[in-house]
Amino acid sequence: MPSERALGVAVVGTGRMGADHVRRLHHVVSGARVTAVVDIDAERARTLADAIEGCTAYTEPAAAMAAQDVDAVLIASPGPAHEAALLEALDRDLPVLCEKPLTPDAASALRVVEAEQKLGHRRVQVGFMRRYDAEYTKLKRLLDSGELGRTLMLHQRHRNPAMPSWFTEEMLINDSVVHEMDVTRWLLDQEITAVTVHKPAPTSYAPEGMSDPQLVLFETESGALVDVEIFGHCGYGYQVQAEAVCERGVVRIDDEHGPRLTADGRWGGRVTPDYLERFEDAYDREVQAWADATRRGETTGPSVWDGYAAAAVCEAGVLSQREGRRVRVELIERPALYK
Ligand code: NAD
Repeated sequence: MPSERALGVAVVGTGRMGADHVRRLHHVVSGARVTAVVDIDAERARTLADAIEGCTAYTEPAAAMAAQDVDAVLIASPGPAHEAALLEALDRDLPVLCEKPLTPDAASALRVVEAEQKLGHRRVQVGFMRRYDAEYTKLKRLLDSGELGRTLMLHQRHRNPAMPSWFTEEMLINDSVVHEMDVTRWLLDQEITAVTVHKPAPTSYAPEGMSDPQLVLFETESGALVDVEIFGHCGYGYQVQAEAVCERGVVRIDDEHGPRLTADGRWGGRVTPDYLERFEDAYDREVQAWADATRRGETTGPSVWDGYAAAAVCEAGVLSQREGRRVRVELIERPALYK
């Protein structure tokens, strides 16, 4: 595409995330515009398209990708629909930003890795947006600087006020802890080698059939230990925290988001209600970075390798969750394209 004109983006899947990305591309991101929206719910796609000048509604991703005014694709359909859309886009050599998870399991993620390798260059960025969050970015920079020595442990907490009724116990791993898997691999710059899931006595607010909260333990290549508390029904808000324990110091992020109020003999602040508010700036930066790189003809950010590695850790996590034992993570050798 000529870099002087705005990037024409097709947004595939216009539910909670997709509709928010349409808003973001239309109102926040510069150098890009939404030229197509795709949803199997035709009415939903049409309603969104009608509100944006020059935007066409489709029900088939392939039809949108074939349109003249579509230069790139943002995939925000449910995980099981990602593989078909990704392979279609790669077949057309179209740049993609694909919401996490890349695909729901390691075998299908590997098929996407193979398709991109066949193309011979990177075309897909995976939506692990915490890498664009200001606090996570500062933490990464500090750890990479070596100032604190090696990182020995990471403590992470991921709490949601409540989960929707269709949310399953496996989804605690595949849809929630998957973010901590990527954060761990990215912050420590190494692979996760084993996963163990522990289940304390559940909260009485957990739905039937879901053990909630859970404590997930990762082991990494260098021998670092990483724990993740995943709590789907904490009741009070959406909270994500991380603490790195290093040889010469400890660094914590995400303790407090202003404003801090002091009144009536108390001090305190507000907890964000959901991920859309907590990570609003990260989503904005992620999509802007993708649009900018795409207009330069580049692909940056989390790769399909990162999506595949996270899928493999998820599989080990779900098995451990089911069988109550430590499970080793099996990965293929990392292809040269992702080194
Ligand atoms: P959703 O159920 O609200 O929306 C999904 C939409 O996709 C619906 O409108 C549905 O009709 C449509 N759809 C289903 N199959 C389709 C297909 N084959 N082609 C086109 N459209 C199709 O789901 P959501 O919460 O918006 O999640 C969408 C994606 O975003 C998922 O991959 C999810 O894991 C991811 N997500 C990411 C984050 C994050 O923090 N990065 C947060 C939430 C969700």
